[in-house]
Amino acid sequence: MTEQYRADLKKAAEFHGHTCTGIILGVRLARVGLNYLGIDDPAKNRDFIVYCEIDRCLTDAVQSVTGCSLGKRRLKAKEYSKMAATFVDMNTKNGTRSVMSAKENAPEGADELAFWNQFTDEEVFRFEPVTVDIPPEDMPGRPIRSVVCEMCHEKIMDNKDVQKDGKILCRSCAEGGYYQKI
Ligand SMILES: [Zn+2]
Ligand SMILES: [Zn+2]
Repeated sequence: MTEQYRADLKKAAEFHGHTCTGIILGVRLARVGLNYLGIDDPAKNRDFIVYCEIDRCLTDAVQSVTGCSLGKRRLKAKEYSKMAATFVDMNTKNGTRSVMSAKENAPEGADELAFWNQFTDEEVFRFEPVTVDIPPEDMPGRPIRSVVCEMCHEKIMDNKDVQKDGKILCRSCAEGGYYQKI
């Protein structure tokens, strides 16, 4: 284990609350992505965006190692529930997608770190170069547009409104919300 791997793991485990397979693989996947983009210190190069394909442990590790977060708009969550993430250069829109390819799981009660350390990155992940069409409204920086929903009168930023029956609506009003009023 390199010094950097050890430090990344410690930081991610503190952020997440424990060390688990998702944290171990997330830390490794984060470094694979950063290395592909030629970034050694993610605090010094902020010109990249990470798309995580799962809302589980792995994404906490990626956030911890890269410093990318939802609030900074440099961490995007895709609800695919796959152990995968894409690292994209904001300027070229090119990057790499890494997905867990290993079929095995750490055996019940095993030392997960020792288990995963047996395998190289190439054995655990599959990599593919990709390009991502990042819409301007999804980029970091000031909101590019803001409107008010004609039904609930709540403010909507960043082009997330929809047109329905000639009205500007928020998605909640247009498509039905995730909550019901009680
Ligand atoms: Zn976990
Ligand atoms: Zn609305």
